[in-house]
Amino acid sequence: MSGRVTVALVKPWRATALLLWLGLILAACIPSRSAVAVELSDPRYRELKRVLVLYSFGREFRPWSEYARSIKAELERQSPWPLDIQEHTLLTARFNNPGPEAPFAEYLGSLYQGALPDIIISIGAPAARFVQRYRSKLFPDTPMVLTVVEERLVNRSDLTDKDVVVSVRNDFVAAFESILQVMPDTKTVAVVIGASPLEKFWVDEVTRELKPLQGRLAIVWYSDLSFEEILKRAAKLPPHTVLFWGLMSVDAAGIVHEGDIALRGLHEVANAPIFSYQEPFFGGSTVGGPMHSTMETSRRSVDAAIRILRGEKPSNIKYEPIGFAAPKYDWRELQRWGIGASNLPAGSEILFREPTIWESYRWQILLIAAIILVQAGLISVLLHERHRRRAAEVESRQRFVELAHANRYSAVGELTTSIAHELNQPLGSILTNAETAELMLKAASPDLDEIKHILADIRRDDLRASEVIRRLRSVLKKTPFEIRKLELNDTVCEAIGLAAAVANGRRIALSYVPAVTALPIKGDPVQLQQVVLNLIINAMDAISDADITKREVSVATARAGNQAEIRIIDTGPGIATGDLASVFNPFFTTKPEGMGMGLAIAKTIVEAHHGTMAAENLPAGGALFVVRLPIVR
Ligand code: ADP
Repeated sequence: MSGRVTVALVKPWRATALLLWLGLILAACIPSRSAVAVELSDPRYRELKRVLVLYSFGREFRPWSEYARSIKAELERQSPWPLDIQEHTLLTARFNNPGPEAPFAEYLGSLYQGALPDIIISIGAPAARFVQRYRSKLFPDTPMVLTVVEERLVNRSDLTDKDVVVSVRNDFVAAFESILQVMPDTKTVAVVIGASPLEKFWVDEVTRELKPLQGRLAIVWYSDLSFEEILKRAAKLPPHTVLFWGLMSVDAAGIVHEGDIALRGLHEVANAPIFSYQEPFFGGSTVGGPMHSTMETSRRSVDAAIRILRGEKPSNIKYEPIGFAAPKYDWRELQRWGIGASNLPAGSEILFREPTIWESYRWQILLIAAIILVQAGLISVLLHERHRRRAAEVESRQRFVELAHANRYSAVGELTTSIAHELNQPLGSILTNAETAELMLKAASPDLDEIKHILADIRRDDLRASEVIRRLRSVLKKTPFEIRKLELNDTVCEAIGLAAAVANGRRIALSYVPAVTALPIKGDPVQLQQVVLNLIINAMDAISDADITKREVSVATARAGNQAEIRIIDTGPGIATGDLASVFNPFFTTKPEGMGMGLAIAKTIVEAHHGTMAAENLPAGGALFVVRLPIVR
């Protein structure tokens, strides 16, 4: 025999003795509630009721611990008297061979000598057995409530007329059939149960009771396995297997399992759902089903206790065994194992339902939806506004194009006389040359070389006239604003070609010095020609009164950094200093017949090309207009 022992693995009778002594010490240390609450001198002391509560296995063994907790709470709630609740634990229930219970009984006897309890409440079958066995010796006249005892475990032969039994009935057929209803594909149920005497009793009992299910369901018992081994098996269960949690107070290895640690451990590793018929195991690990209700049993136990304490004869208090309550299911487990609500028995209650996102965040969702709605409203208003602005922009651009076109007409109108003159010249030459050629052809031997020259002159004059017309048509073209890549030197040259005729007619020296480098820009050629033409006409207007020797308009293009520049200089009087800021304003004019729109339109055109336009007076006299446009690659 080994001298090194542990509490859990020690030989049973030695462990019993050891635990009994531990129990003694512990019990002495547990203060009773009402003993502290009521002083001896208090008149209520005479009303004090001493309640002895005896637990099976230990204070923290489920399901009894939960029943005891609930019974105590209910008793304290309902009792009209101050209570002195004394709790003791029958540890011997854990062992196959309980060994001597006598020291514990003796201890209880000496503890209550002279101050017997008013009532004894035993919780669970082992505790009931113990008090029944020792009552004649210890508490022969004390009434007892034997509660949370399965009816098959009630020791009826030892019942006295001072005992009330609050029994329960375990209907395993109903419990297993409800599993089959909830999970119809189930083929095997692995029953987790410990190895204490009580647990062993149930193995035989359940096997017998489940005979009607033979053939429909295979039952596997884990009663002879250590809990460690049970965990290993539960992790690798074959399909269509479920676990049934019976009891696990002491496993086959002698390990004691308090609280709900074992069940939680099983729940963590199991690859199958766990069912149980006890409500104290429900709420975290088991799926649910028909179960004993903690509250119902507690209420009945307390009802019996209060009636007895009021003086009612215990023999008059009789109850039918309590069956399973209406089935309850854990929503989280139903989700986890894919069990549909339609599979649940009628009248089932589903608990622990996780609130939907809508239920959890209703206000936040409403707020966000409201914000989104307001935002959507704002966006649609803004989009509508943008659409209106775009439409207005298109409309205004259209108007501007028309205005610019009208302005070109008026500019060209000013040129009409000069243009007519410009056309007349080649047409006159053509006529004269044609007549000369006719006469020469009438001669006996016409000079064909000379006629060839005349025809060449006619062709040149014709080209000159058609060029004038082409330019005129091109500048009067009514085209939409159209941006394209162009060479600014060529565009300016075209405008000079048109203005040249006017300059000629007005005896003005019009010069053009194009830039030596290329000036690629993006723009509408007709509109840019209009700008140049406008500036040249204004320059020519400004010098029309000047001395004939000083009538000069010089146009030049150049590259200044990444900008193309057009400079138009005249030798006129310049712009009056006070007018410099106003010349680009619409309807500003100093001319009697002027409209004052030329420079305003020109500036708008230049700005639409992302360019700038400025005017200044030159120190030597005369005005300088500079147009700058961005160069493109
Ligand atoms: P309009 O030619 O019909 O008057 P513009 O907008 O083309 O309209 O010109 C506005 C005014 O700017 C002119 O009336 C004139 O006073 C002034 N102006 C324009 N160009 C010159 C210039 N080269 N020299 C002096 N004044 C000028």
